[in-house]
Amino acid sequence: MNPNPHTPAHTRRHALLGAAALGVVGWSAAARNAVAADRRPAPDPGPDLDPDADAVADRGRITVRRSGRYEVLALLDAHGPFPGRRQDEFPAADERDWARARRLDPAAFGPGDTWELDFRCYAIRRPGGRVTLVDTGVGPAGSPASDWAPVPGHLPEVLRAAGIARTDVEAVVLTHLHEDHYGWAVTPDGTPLFPDARYVIQRAEVAALSDDDSATTYVLAPLRRAGLLHQIDGRTRLLRGVTAVPAPGHTPGHQSVLVDGGREILITGDALVHAVQLADPAVPYRREKDQTTARTTRENLLARASAHRALLATAHLNHPFVRA
Ligand SMILES: [Zn+2]
Repeated sequence: MNPNPHTPAHTRRHALLGAAALGVVGWSAAARNAVAADRRPAPDPGPDLDPDADAVADRGRITVRRSGRYEVLALLDAHGPFPGRRQDEFPAADERDWARARRLDPAAFGPGDTWELDFRCYAIRRPGGRVTLVDTGVGPAGSPASDWAPVPGHLPEVLRAAGIARTDVEAVVLTHLHEDHYGWAVTPDGTPLFPDARYVIQRAEVAALSDDDSATTYVLAPLRRAGLLHQIDGRTRLLRGVTAVPAPGHTPGHQSVLVDGGREILITGDALVHAVQLADPAVPYRREKDQTTARTTRENLLARASAHRALLATAHLNHPFVRA
């Protein structure tokens, strides 16, 4: 996601009036505790494009798939409308693309021309309970995403409901440095939220930032001070069967994460942001930094995922897992 940083904040806030009302609501401590201990499938988890669902819990905010020894948990941080008309964001999409996208992700089509989307993170839990977290959502009230995204997000509560302590997190992979992906990486006072984690970012992503970018000041400076910033170059093995895969275009150093413990799960980040780009991977998103590179990345990722029958784990579709 790349919200328009040049739109005056008050305009974006106006466009998002009502986003809080559409955000997912909190839940009781009893419900949280019940969920942590018991991941029964919810009676009605809603439409799911992956019939091999392992578990859906916590009112759909936590969805679990297994890849061999790993559990991959989709964690819903927030949900709301995007501040812009969907056809303005994907001007090259034709009627056929939109019709197919509507079948793939009907919940993305809000009233009028609105685009409804989830803001999701993923946790890769290995035997013993240590976790690699991929992306950290929109963050709390007052985070940099506040100007346009439905803050506050709920990631800390959702992690607790999933039985994940902050100190269980051994790595935080940021797919890229947009504010709806690094929101909970640090608190607004600059304290890393996951004190025992290394924060894994592509060096090219860091290098492309200007000194006054909010990512530089809000997230990178505190991580550097704490000695937790871990820059990588290109394709990098994170764990056995878990690999950071460069996926540039949306941003210069954007990366995805491939979990291959048997069934492949590709955590895409923003290599695709809307089902219309699943319907037709050639459709650009207006705010991609380099649309040509982004298209090549998306086509390659989706072709490979399809050939391997991988599940896609996306940040912004309204289903956490879909088949390529
Ligand atoms: Zn995004």
